[in-house]
Amino acid sequence: MLTGTCHCGSVTWRFTADPTQATACNCTICAKAGTFWIYGTEGEDIDITGPTTAYKRADSGNLEFLHCPTCGNTIGWRAADPDNNRAALNLRLVDTPDTVMNLPIRHFEGLNTFTPLPDDGTTVKDLWF
Ligand SMILES: [Zn+2]
Repeated sequence: MLTGTCHCGSVTWRFTADPTQATACNCTICAKAGTFWIYGTEGEDIDITGPTTAYKRADSGNLEFLHCPTCGNTIGWRAADPDNNRAALNLRLVDTPDTVMNLPIRHFEGLNTFTPLPDDGTTVKDLWF
């Protein structure tokens, strides 16, 4: 299990599955936020606790990006459709970074082609700092 906390401590997340990879995406939101995503299902392997604000990009309302209203950290995203529990967490908030450094990075070309790129051996530690 992994837990994560925003900078001010108002929002926490819990991921009860074992992540096998983290996704780095180059879309206009993810590139600006610097997020690494781990994916799951809210209410199953993902729980988010604390107040969040939701942001939907103007050109696509499929996802709500969740932020801490106090410190502004990106917490994760959830599907805007209430019948869809698909969600993701920002691995950057993990409380135990040492435990995720060897996870493979999956590069997702979210800017133009919206497709995953072939694995290139990059791990979280290569991009963390
Ligand atoms: Zn916060």
